[in-house]
Amino acid sequence: MPDKYDIIVAGAGLAGNLAAAGAAKRGLKVLLLDKNKEEEVGKKTNWGWVCGDAVATSHLDFVRKHIGISFSKPELDVKVDGVVAYSPDMKTKINFDGEGYVLDRPEFEKRLRDYAVKSGAEYVSQFDVEGPIIENNSVAGIFGKDKSMVHKEIRAKAVIDALGVSTNIRRKLPDNQYVDRIVDVDDLESTGRYIYDCEVSHEDLRYYDPKYAIIHLNQNVSPGGYGWVFPKSQYGRVNIGIGVQKSSIEIRNKKLNKKDTLHTLMDEYVRSIPNLKSPKLFGKDNNGKGYWSVAVRRNIECLVFNGYVGAGDSMAMPNPISAGGIGPALVAGVLAGENVATAVEKGDVSIKGMWQYNIDFNREYGKKMAAMEVFRVYLQSLNNDLINYGMEKFLSRKEAEDLAYGRTTELSVMSKMSMILSGIANINAFKNLVYTVGKMKMFNTHYENYPKTPEEFPAWKATVTREMEAFKEKFKPNPI
Ligand SMILES: Cc1cc2nc3c(=O)[nH]c(=O)nc-3n(C[C@H](O)[C@H](O)[C@H](O)COP(=O)(O)OP(=O)(O)OC[C@H]3O[C@@H](n4cnc5c(N)ncnc54)[C@H](O)[C@@H]3O)c2cc1C
Repeated sequence: MPDKYDIIVAGAGLAGNLAAAGAAKRGLKVLLLDKNKEEEVGKKTNWGWVCGDAVATSHLDFVRKHIGISFSKPELDVKVDGVVAYSPDMKTKINFDGEGYVLDRPEFEKRLRDYAVKSGAEYVSQFDVEGPIIENNSVAGIFGKDKSMVHKEIRAKAVIDALGVSTNIRRKLPDNQYVDRIVDVDDLESTGRYIYDCEVSHEDLRYYDPKYAIIHLNQNVSPGGYGWVFPKSQYGRVNIGIGVQKSSIEIRNKKLNKKDTLHTLMDEYVRSIPNLKSPKLFGKDNNGKGYWSVAVRRNIECLVFNGYVGAGDSMAMPNPISAGGIGPALVAGVLAGENVATAVEKGDVSIKGMWQYNIDFNREYGKKMAAMEVFRVYLQSLNNDLINYGMEKFLSRKEAEDLAYGRTTELSVMSKMSMILSGIANINAFKNLVYTVGKMKMFNTHYENYPKTPEEFPAWKATVTREMEAFKEKFKPNPI
């Protein structure tokens, strides 16, 4: 490894591999570092590639159009026709149609890494990145340990942080008014995920559907989150898991006088699926069972600092409602590679020189995320009865779909109000939904006006922070 590169990409996951491929294709000297062994590229944690692995086809198309890589078997394990969300009482379902895939994640990561290397990136495995080198208020490289545990400092004109949710580059940036270094614990979901081979005792598409990704909303089973059963290519093989919010699980335990943890709830969820019997861990790649975290807030508002950009989970990019982070990591990886390469070519890797990346990501993905965070916070404030009632009575399918995608829907307030809403709690929940939609509209408009220059950013961000804090103060988690 020489000690100076044009670009260092830290983390060879989804975002990192694509950023490295894009920049290397431009003829730049790119170093791609990852802590895993070569055969385990993209593995998030010792637990494995912990993920539901579901991704919309539109995101794969984005990669194909921009980078030229297309996907097939084995990395695309199975095609699904959409997502179906069930109410806690299982009486109401909302279909979100739209083709997607459940990935064979280890294969998908290898495919991306091989593409980055073919494009000219220098890939070094088993390198543990420990933090950024900071000089003159700018990121000048990274330090860490190579596979012989020898301390190394490597410099570059710019660093792309694709280390995932546990990034130790963003968190060690100098204090600054652009990039947030801390993510609030209640904006994280703790998750458990197993891949099981099961015997399907009888057909019940509410629990297992070989053609749909199923989501179960239930504040008792997965407080502040949801449970999922996603199909794999072999009949009876499932990617199954739950996500929970820390405050919600604590409140739920207190209300029920219980001591459940993510682990006990996870096992309980698996047992509760009535038609999946005799689950056996699927051992391929030693990726059968794992726990990890995922951020469910709006992405970090500014993705660039001097000499630095972040992409994927390192920047809290997953969708705040679904926790889907594969799509944004792919999109951000592509855009980061393109934008940082341009900045390096122009010789300006300052915040200003790389600002266009913020604008591009906001346009392609980020602009709906604050509105979706608002809707997530509202959902976490509802108990099971209100979710049941709301899914059945408040929302048409179109309205539910709009809200889940961060689009503000014209809730037909007058017609709804004339509907017979029974019980004061339901009426309040509906009024709160109307308020929530108003706040979502406000955020969508604000993000349409994302700052065109760094100078405008601090005032713009102050509004985001103020409005989001006020909303969270009004809507506290309230499971069960
Ligand atoms: C249980 C669970 C279920 C999920 N389900 C879905 C889903 O169904 N659909 C969806 O779209 N999203 C889902 N997500 C989110 C999705 O998995 C992530 O958003 C996605 O993996 C982000 O990709 P990334 O490239 O940003 O980061 P990562 O995939 O985390 O990759 C980061 C890479 O950096 C490496 N690395 C980390 N630290 C260091 C270090 N110090 N030194 C060197 N290398 C390092 C890691 O080993 C890894 O290779 C889920 C997340 C979880 C936890």
